[in-house]
Amino acid sequence: MIPAAFEYHRPSDIEAALGLLQTHGDEARVLAGGHSLIPMMKLRMAAIEHLIDLRDIAGLRDIRIDGTTIRIGAMVTQADLIAHDGLARTAPILREAALQIADPQVRYMGTVGGNVANGDPGNDMPGLMQALDAVFTLAGPDGDRDVAARDFYESAYMTAREDDEILTGIRFDATAGGYAYEKQKRKIGDYATAAAAVLITREGGCVATASVAMTNLADTPIWSHAAAEALIGSSCDADAIRAATTAALADIDPTEDNRGPVEFKRHVAGIIISRAIARAWSRA
Ligand SMILES: Cc1cc2nc3c(=O)[nH]c(=O)nc-3n(C[C@H](O)[C@H](O)[C@H](O)COP(=O)(O)OP(=O)(O)OC[C@H]3O[C@@H](n4cnc5c(N)ncnc54)[C@H](O)[C@@H]3O)c2cc1C
Repeated sequence: MIPAAFEYHRPSDIEAALGLLQTHGDEARVLAGGHSLIPMMKLRMAAIEHLIDLRDIAGLRDIRIDGTTIRIGAMVTQADLIAHDGLARTAPILREAALQIADPQVRYMGTVGGNVANGDPGNDMPGLMQALDAVFTLAGPDGDRDVAARDFYESAYMTAREDDEILTGIRFDATAGGYAYEKQKRKIGDYATAAAAVLITREGGCVATASVAMTNLADTPIWSHAAAEALIGSSCDADAIRAATTAALADIDPTEDNRGPVEFKRHVAGIIISRAIARAWSRA
């Protein structure tokens, strides 16, 4: 459990960090909270010669709420998300999801940027970002560019981020109506067997808008357009929830692993999705 030797860099601005990434190419990786990367290095599943720690770069720990637009810096920790009163008012699903990640020790170090940039299908934030229709800002040698969370994930650990780019922040609109993040895990502190993020608004007793996203049920997070379509205009009764759940299940592609066979995962997913929709509706 001891990683191979590496060189540690701690730049104080994003330009210097990008310069180091360019200089060292494939041999370099940025370090955020280290709670995914360092275990990989200790297990010798990743051999990184240059670690570029982002913690001294000003501005990456900011949370800004401008009207209905929320901007979260990449180095904001999961604990910061939980503690922020403004976020609890404007996007309470963030706190609900972050509280279900690992345990307090991991959440004090793990960052929202590391969680979404990692591309691990088990990470909770990527699914949540689908539901929120978030936009990721990437800084690169040619400046900044924005990528929609729904376009970011290509396959497990493969994303639209180029090797010489750094994710600097995440942007999304304040949420309205009801919300729920439901997660099934084997034990406290574990990654999801299945998780679902649901946002619903209500108008005149019917669903006006809906967003349904899922975690660890395919090699990328899944946002189900069909599930939302099944809910919109309905009174979110049992039939509508069943139809939306069926639609969401048609969009997933779980694989067998130490969390269970495919049939079990589909069964768990159905329960988690239905519960998340019902709870979001009860809060709408
Ligand atoms: C025991 C344990 C249980 C856990 N359980 C859960 C769980 O239930 N749910 C969950 O979601 N996560 C879980 N995690 C993971 C944890 O939340 C991680 O901290 C998180 O996924 C990665 O964030 P980090 O800041 O630690 O990133 P790091 O480990 O520092 O980085 C992860 C990867 O992302 C890259 N990266 C990081 N930041 C950036 C950036 N700004 N721009 C570009 N690339 C970047 C790194 O180069 C690296 O490849 C668990 C971790 C542990 C140790």
